[in-house]
Amino acid sequence: MKIIVLPGDGIGAETVSVAVEALELVSKKFKLNLNLHHDIAGHESLTKHGTTIHAGLLDAVKNADGLILGPMSTYDFKDESKGEINPSKFFRKSLDLFANIRPAKTFPGSGAVHKPLDLVVVRENTEGFYADRNIESGGSEMLITSDVVVSLRRITRQCCERIARAAFELAMTRRKHVTVVHKANVLRLGDGMFIDSCRLIGKEFPEVQIEEIIVDAMMAHVVRTPERYDVIVTTNMFGDILSDLTAELSGSLGMAASINAGVNYAMAQAAHGSAPDIAGKNIANPFSQVWSAAMLLNWFGQRNGRPAFTQAAQVLETAVVGAVAAGESTKDVGGKLGTKETGQALMVRLAKM
Ligand code: NAD
Repeated sequence: MKIIVLPGDGIGAETVSVAVEALELVSKKFKLNLNLHHDIAGHESLTKHGTTIHAGLLDAVKNADGLILGPMSTYDFKDESKGEINPSKFFRKSLDLFANIRPAKTFPGSGAVHKPLDLVVVRENTEGFYADRNIESGGSEMLITSDVVVSLRRITRQCCERIARAAFELAMTRRKHVTVVHKANVLRLGDGMFIDSCRLIGKEFPEVQIEEIIVDAMMAHVVRTPERYDVIVTTNMFGDILSDLTAELSGSLGMAASINAGVNYAMAQAAHGSAPDIAGKNIANPFSQVWSAAMLLNWFGQRNGRPAFTQAAQVLETAVVGAVAAGESTKDVGGKLGTKETGQALMVRLAKM
């Protein structure tokens, strides 16, 4: 399996290096023959190549089996004509990575004060309110006059149905329950189509129970009774916001793993951003990135019928669970170690497994 590794901005270099070390270790252990190819994107690339995504990078990613993308300082990248392309958007759009799968699970020992939860947010990733990707060319946010902005939201039946299918397929491997989160009381047409699509696809999965909840009420329900949720499917922006909440309820945004998957490609990228407030301080939690990398191995193993990859993914996840429980972790999840030391302890643990 060939994987392109792009460390990203802010805490990216610190957290992605731990994920890379973990991948190298399980590659040897499970004879995965991982071929990790290192490149750059984001600020480092902007300085070196004059653009956040250099020429040839997309082809290199297309010729690989997977991508690890570190967090990106997307807020800094405002003008594509100056080479400031949002790398996260770029790969999601160029590779049609329509399913953003964001699990949130309480890790024993993480110090999570909240009730235990084990759920997955399945977020549509290619349209919705995201002005940088919901249109073929240009952006869909317009300055009508200096005092008036119009932001367009795109919802298509095709994108609704494929994200719904991804959610129901995932639910079949879990507790067979899908919650459709929407705002159809206000966005009657767009979210109405989203709900209809989920109901339609749901008929193909008669074993899976469906419920529908309005997004604002969902924020209260998921805090009050998180144990009630298994797979949550929703449109792009609601999923982005809801998944940060569920990650934090599970213990920390620093545990927020995520995979962005399409038909042919997948990209592992932690759900959080580049965290400039803690970058370079050796305190960022690397487990979001390690767990994301494990999800990439699992995706590849399932798709290609390669059980060694799914086993390796399971071992990585078990190691992270064990590390948090043993306090071999960063401060945000109850440990006392730095990022680097958390990585070192994880390697010792993985080597013994
Ligand atoms: P953020 O997700 O970077 O950080 C939010 C809070 O969570 C911060 O206090 C941060 O210290 C903490 N945090 C995040 N990751 C952590 C980790 N691994 N361990 C411990 N604590 C962690 O959100 P922000 O500060 O609003 O955004 C910073 C930049 O990241 C912005 O440019 C934003 O656009 C970008 N962003 C990128 C992505 C992405 O690349 N997928 C996602 C979200 C935000």
